[in-house]
Amino acid sequence: MSSSNRNKHGLSRYIKTEVKEQIRREAGFGCVFCGCILVEYEHIEPEFHGAEVHDPTRMTLLCPICHDKVTKRIISKRKVWEAKQNPKALERGYVNDMLMVATENLELLLLDDKTLLVWEPPLQLQINITVYCWNSREKAIIPFTLGSFLCSFF
Ligand SMILES: [Zn+2]
Repeated sequence: MSSSNRNKHGLSRYIKTEVKEQIRREAGFGCVFCGCILVEYEHIEPEFHGAEVHDPTRMTLLCPICHDKVTKRIISKRKVWEAKQNPKALERGYVNDMLMVATENLELLLLDDKTLLVWEPPLQLQINITVYCWNSREKAIIPFTLGSFLCSFF
């Protein structure tokens, strides 16, 4: 690992598995602000450049968009601490992500091959489907909501 991956205290970017697991579980496996399942690890205070250890009590989970807003000071560290105390995924009971669609006809299937929705343009439709995923890495059933806004341009 190059020296640029270490901060002034010699702390590397590498975070131990147990520390990551604790952070993910406490956040409900999603971004603490929006519940998105795509996440990164945030050093709240001190920030990574000033941290001496990867302390899970001073870290949390953020999606890339919320993480960027925190980095750019659009979201304050105080708000991050508040969100860590009340993570969105635990409050709502599920994590989420957006389904990106680039097709004229869409058929969504559940795991049992039962057709859930068939979409034919022109139509505007918002879907919100909660499924329960067994995550073998986390050894937990994680409620997951797939949300999408489907629209036709014809
Ligand atoms: Zn987020």
